[in-house]
Amino acid sequence: MIYFNYMGNAIDFSTNPVSFEINERCGLLIIDEVNGFCKVGAGNLAPLKANLQVENMIKETANLAKLFNDKSMPIALFLDNHEDDRPEHPFPPHCIKGTGEEKIITELEWLIDSDALKIKKDCINGFIGSIDPINNENVFINWIKKYQIRTLIVTGICTDICVLDFVLTCMSAINHQIINPLNKVVVYSEACSTYHMDANDIQRLKLDESMIHDQETYHNIGLKIMQMRGAIIANKIKF
Ligand SMILES: [Zn+2]
Repeated sequence: MIYFNYMGNAIDFSTNPVSFEINERCGLLIIDEVNGFCKVGAGNLAPLKANLQVENMIKETANLAKLFNDKSMPIALFLDNHEDDRPEHPFPPHCIKGTGEEKIITELEWLIDSDALKIKKDCINGFIGSIDPINNENVFINWIKKYQIRTLIVTGICTDICVLDFVLTCMSAINHQIINPLNKVVVYSEACSTYHMDANDIQRLKLDESMIHDQETYHNIGLKIMQMRGAIIANKIKF
């Protein structure tokens, strides 16, 4: 059980993850596993030192991506990628084009030359980032339809930011019937992670105190909110 204390009351944030067995057409989405969020010292939002949750996410994502690729199952990547004149308030500059922070981590580099769909995005919500500003087409929706994906497995960083925003939007898109035949979103908890930012980091980056961010707490809050909106939280994926 995962309890948080709020004004003297214990609140249970456990999600009791399930072991999920794939039994219909399934796609894998990997969100923002780029240097700027995953590699020690790679930028303002990168870990300051080796981080177990992030390392575990990388290992689990790489294993799952390999299985999907071996079985010729579809894979899509969101890659955070910003122009240097367009920062993303309230976050410090990160994943600016040309800095190397925007590059996919070495463990997943092989996917760049694969058939995987690669979507560069300049905003938190990859569902929005998939919309072509010229013709309003959503390349992510097109990918779901092209491969007739009914179950989507989601991995990546951050559990409570980019993963959360995407999954919540995707649940609405399913209800609104604009992303058929998708009907199930599975968040693979072992292949998700978020960042840790304490009082020292806030000072160093000159950020507001409200940006203090305890990794384990916010990871669990992210999972809990996605579960409350109808996503399946799984700690094992079976084929
Ligand atoms: Zn960003």
